[in-house]
Amino acid sequence: STQRLEGKVVLITGASSGIGAVPAILFAKAGSNLILLARRQDALTSVASAAQAAHKAAGLTVGGKVATVVLDVSDREAVAGLLGKIPEELRKVDILVNNAGFVLGVDKIGDIKDDDMEAMFETNVYGLIRMTQLFVKDFKARNTGHIINIGSVAGREAYAGGGIYCATKAAVRSFSQSLLREVVDTKIRVTEIQPGLVETGFSVVRFRGDKSAADKVYEGLEPLTGKDVAEEIVWVAARPSHINIAELFVMPVNQA
Ligand code: NDP
Repeated sequence: STQRLEGKVVLITGASSGIGAVPAILFAKAGSNLILLARRQDALTSVASAAQAAHKAAGLTVGGKVATVVLDVSDREAVAGLLGKIPEELRKVDILVNNAGFVLGVDKIGDIKDDDMEAMFETNVYGLIRMTQLFVKDFKARNTGHIINIGSVAGREAYAGGGIYCATKAAVRSFSQSLLREVVDTKIRVTEIQPGLVETGFSVVRFRGDKSAADKVYEGLEPLTGKDVAEEIVWVAARPSHINIAELFVMPVNQA
């Protein structure tokens, strides 16, 4: 039941658009408090307003506090200073959703640019790991907490042209598994969600702004929506505290 989410503090990275923007609304509706993090303040502000409106419409007396933090998860120093940017009343995070990530280019191995390679690893892997490090200490001290990492089908099976992105998502998978085993004697939960194709701005980033190339990716199937994945995120978070959904692999019908 989503009642279990009442009063919880949920931090979502990449909450300004795409998949990450939607769970903000759903958690707010369920009475959670939120910290929404991404690089674009204007987009974060509009997600925050929508989350507050959803909370108000639900008529709950608990939750509904929403803070936004402009932060690049690939910026090591910024992540180290993150707690100072969170209002004190929201510093005890209960659920960390590591969602920020992207893919840049569909390049042959020999053509991959160093900068693109590093940028993908810095955000998708090191950013996710540093965010986890920041909160897992506190989770261990409080013997509670849930880390939900957004991996991908690309971390299970690599495709040609995705050498770096697939490798980052395989790293997310291994890291999540290792973390889960590390905290096995605690009440901390670790979930990795592996979506197939989701229609967001993601594919536009992949094709460096070429919208028609991006749209071709979805031909012949009905892609998942941000809402579909958001509902999975909220579902795993709302399971009874003795249940950990370790992995959730969610594909659109007709995606090979
Ligand atoms: P979008 O491009 O729509 O959204 C990505 C979000 O991440 C944006 O809100 C962006 O906001 C934020 N972001 C990107 N880099 C950083 C950073 N360095 N620091 C902080 N925030 C950042 O993509 P999706 O919603 O589709 O992607 C979300 C996650 O889902 C990613 O991890 C992706 O790999 C994964 N995924 C997506 C699939 C798809 O088909 N769409 C399939 C499987 C997995 P801002 O620009 O404001 O920082």
